[in-house]
Amino acid sequence: MSDHDDDHPTKRVQVRGYTRDVPLKRYDLVCAFCHTQTTVYRYPGNAPRFCSEACQAEARFVADREQKAAKRKAKQAERAAAGIVVRRGRPRKG
Ligand SMILES: [Zn+2]
Repeated sequence: MSDHDDDHPTKRVQVRGYTRDVPLKRYDLVCAFCHTQTTVYRYPGNAPRFCSEACQAEARFVADREQKAAKRKAKQAERAAAGIVVRRGRPRKG
């Protein structure tokens, strides 16, 4: 949704009652999630790692899930180390 020239994208920001167009920096990157080579325009500063916000959200979702799984595993290991058996197997009678 921009009527600017394509070769110099800017972001219109509102600062204290007036608007100014901030030139965006061009980043050529390979998306950390879908591994697509792409070019994105962002504010200078923090280099983006993803080709789109969708990928960023998806990556965050996956990372969050993995983190939770890792946490769960760590907790189980902790319990096992403390001598608490989570799943008690029935003693087999020979
Ligand atoms: Zn991507």
